[in-house]
Amino acid sequence: MDRRKFLKTAAVGATASAAFTTNLYAKTSKTLKVCLSWPKTLPIMGEGALWFADRVKELSGGSLKVKIYGANELVPALGVFDACSKGLIDGFHSGPYYWKGKNMAFSLFSAFPFGMVYDEIDPWFDFGGGMDIWRKLYAKYNLLPFKGGNTGNQMGGWFRKPIKSLNDLKGLKMRIPGLGGEVMAKLGVKPVNIPGGEIYTALERGVIDATEWVGPSLDLIMGFQKVAKYYYTGWHEPGSLLELTFNKKKFERLPKEHQAILEAASREMHTRIFNQFQYQNAVKLQELLSGKYDVVLGNFPDDVNEAAKKATQEILNEYANKYKDFAMVYDNIKSFFPKIRKWTDTLPKWYLDIRDKGFIVD
Ligand code: CA
Repeated sequence: MDRRKFLKTAAVGATASAAFTTNLYAKTSKTLKVCLSWPKTLPIMGEGALWFADRVKELSGGSLKVKIYGANELVPALGVFDACSKGLIDGFHSGPYYWKGKNMAFSLFSAFPFGMVYDEIDPWFDFGGGMDIWRKLYAKYNLLPFKGGNTGNQMGGWFRKPIKSLNDLKGLKMRIPGLGGEVMAKLGVKPVNIPGGEIYTALERGVIDATEWVGPSLDLIMGFQKVAKYYYTGWHEPGSLLELTFNKKKFERLPKEHQAILEAASREMHTRIFNQFQYQNAVKLQELLSGKYDVVLGNFPDDVNEAAKKATQEILNEYANKYKDFAMVYDNIKSFFPKIRKWTDTLPKWYLDIRDKGFIVD
């Protein structure tokens, strides 16, 4: 008799006490297959997923286990969504904007140019309706998403030549995926999408003129500082959300305790990954500023930023007119964003502006 059948029978018999079922779960063990869109060895993200697996085992007393598979170990890096949707795997750790080809609305769950930062996007998911509509849209694919980390603000990227005005972007080949790439295209850039492992060589050989990746935390590991001298801050990914998504039917068949453990551990992983990005960005920025590398750190000129903002608005309007789901998510964001922005501007931003003026810790 399988466990579910047994539980059902036991419940019908009305003899199954809570203690009895809890003991039963502790004696049985289940292993979930979770695939990543990046290598297991990738610092912060791959490492975060492995930490999640350990945490689930610890919280469940070993009755629930998660086996992590790196990109291409079990399914291709970007095949995880379909594999999980079909139930071939139990879950995956990836990013919602990779699936914009399935539904353009998914790009809005990661981050979009000039959109919300972590402190704003996280409350939107938990209390502003973001999680509800994300789950509603993923349910069409038999998927149940959880937040799986956030990269925080991402750097605008590495350029082989300085960007002094909008004109300097014209004709540049840049590796930049997602809506950021579409914005850059409107500014005259030729966006290209090449796999992570090939970016360094492409940049070194001049096949591309620029690339974005994440921030100092992971960029210095890629070695971009050796082949591109100009490193700019950016607006294209102000706080990209990662996801830990499960096959919905498989998840719902798990005992309630196991569901709660997965949810709790995913929350821990989510904040752990964000905090680690922040920490590593701070550490690696110091390395960059130490003069060890011949890198010029700067901001894009105002005309680039203004043109990018205008292009972003055009793209958002265009997609909202074209795609029903995109319009639904965008409308939700539009009702929340001004409110949280008002709060951010009223106190947190004001505080950051005045905090460091002449303060003793310098
Ligand atoms: Ca990026």
